Amino acid sequence: MALLRSLLLAASQNVWLREHAIHYPFVRNSVSRFMPGETLEAALGAAQNLAQKNIGSVFTHLGENVTDGSEAQKVTDHYLEVLDRIHATKLGTEVSVKLTQLGLDLSPDSCFANLEQIIRRESSKSIVWVDMEASNYVDATLQIYRRALAKYPNVGLCLQSYLYRTKKDLADLLPMKPSIRLVKGAYKEPPEVAFPKKSDVDASYFSLAKEILKAKQQGNCLRAVFGSHDVPLIHRLCDYAVGRGMLKSDCEVHMLYGIQRAEQERLARDGCRSVVLVAYGTYWYPWFVRRLAERPANLWFMVRNVVAS
Ligand SMILES: Cc1cc2nc3c(=O)[nH]c(=O)nc-3n(C[C@H](O)[C@H](O)[C@H](O)COP(=O)(O)OP(=O)(O)OC[C@H]3O[C@@H](n4cnc5c(N)ncnc54)[C@H](O)[C@@H]3O)c2cc1C
Repeated sequence: MALLRSLLLAASQNVWLREHAIHYPFVRNSVSRFMPGETLEAALGAAQNLAQKNIGSVFTHLGENVTDGSEAQKVTDHYLEVLDRIHATKLGTEVSVKLTQLGLDLSPDSCFANLEQIIRRESSKSIVWVDMEASNYVDATLQIYRRALAKYPNVGLCLQSYLYRTKKDLADLLPMKPSIRLVKGAYKEPPEVAFPKKSDVDASYFSLAKEILKAKQQGNCLRAVFGSHDVPLIHRLCDYAVGRGMLKSDCEVHMLYGIQRAEQERLARDGCRSVVLVAYGTYWYPWFVRRLAERPANLWFMVRNVVAS
């Protein structure tokens, strides 16, 4: 299973596959399980449906590593339009951005300026979430995040429990009252920087999550979000929060569109804050293959689609 995961993560970065695989109908059919469509309209439709079940939404426009400034500006303009459209719906949907899509590889200053435009357009009651990408981007991402958080309280950051460094990164951030979305981590990382064993990643997640919940209770973390589909882990965390006298709604869980739908609904019914990250856009190949790597059994959906096509 670990070998298959490594192969899939390598495939997620393969340019030839990215350019060719997206044209096969069985691949396109398979991706539809994880995204409602390629357009903003499709994402807005999904958010309306989720809202009827008391489930919130966060939008992300797929893409990463843009190679020129005008492309980064185009992505920024798109997010500004998205926020205007969201505000008109009153759905309360938030957005989550990748800094390499806002030009981090080109210039940290212009990437910050792009992020700042997006934060300024967002309502002060909603968070603009910043994704965490591969480990070589963590320092640059943290620098930009700290710079943004010093000016705007409504910006949140994703941290990854598979990285050894995250415990210290979290401790360093807490004095700034951040908003944190904790995930396990989706990239192919060497054992020098990340726990190779899944059981260690899970243990690190639980331990970091407890720190985040404690910080929330003490007023040192504005929003504490758990980005995971690991149902037993989420239950343990909710029990931990309630055991400390916190409200169920202090346990905010974000999942990806199409994964653990029943649990998303159960959490919402049970009084937790349940939110779905809705991805859309045409640049879905690397993102989709990372979803396959997270659960190689997803490959069977592809196989079924090959047979059906
Ligand atoms: C809201 C959100 C935001 C994220 N943002 C980032 C980010 O910015 N940076 C980053 O590196 N990673 C991000 N991730 C991905 C994350 O790092 C993990 O790769 C992913 O969530 C799988 O880990 P898990 O916590 O669900 O637990 P796992 O232990 O991997 O999975 C637990 C169970 O959930 C189900 N499951 C998990 N993944 C899938 C899947 N793809 N398809 C079907 N079932 C599945 C399976 O039943 C599995 O047994 C994000 C995830 C979420 C939910």
